[in-house]
Amino acid sequence: MKINMKIAVAGTVAIIIAIAITSFVLNDTVQVVIDAGHGGDDVGAQYNGRYEKDDNLAVALLVAEKLEEKGVEVAMTRDDDTFISLEKRCKIANRRQAELFVSLHRNSADGAKGVEIWVSDDSPVKDIELAENILKNLDEAGISQNRGVKAGYARGDGNYYVNSHSNMPSCLVELGFINSEEDNSLFDKNLDAYAQAIADAVILSLES
Ligand SMILES: [Zn+2]
Repeated sequence: MKINMKIAVAGTVAIIIAIAITSFVLNDTVQVVIDAGHGGDDVGAQYNGRYEKDDNLAVALLVAEKLEEKGVEVAMTRDDDTFISLEKRCKIANRRQAELFVSLHRNSADGAKGVEIWVSDDSPVKDIELAENILKNLDEAGISQNRGVKAGYARGDGNYYVNSHSNMPSCLVELGFINSEEDNSLFDKNLDAYAQAIADAVILSLES
């Protein structure tokens, strides 16, 4: 083959690959990203051998399953016990152009109990609506205390990374305190109901 011919073939192949990648990225959108907090070496909060990362994953897998049953296109930032950086979690949601992002966590603080949900502090209407829908449903499913929807970050100024770096409405759900026996027994008893409550609220928020 002549050199010119080789260059032409290589150029054509490069263009075809570029088109394939572009169409893959464009067709790879999802409606919702479900984010199971922590994972791998990052166990999150812990109490008597119980790791937050495991509780987060258990509920996240159920939420994703229930959403998919209703025909919602879902992506998870992790579906096993793997460490994923906060940056990567947001990149996944942003690249796939999700309409909503829900991060699932458990809390930890001395003497505290109940469920609270965090949104970014720049008063995003859709984020607050998503958080309020989720909290209302969880409250009905059975929680020890409704601590409300809160803006900002529990441990200082600013926002939770996933709330400030995701391009779509988002919230961070703290599903009870891992050092509260009451919250843990409610979490274990109501795991399926909690997942259903979150999935239903996500669907309601998608529709509005
Ligand atoms: Zn956490």
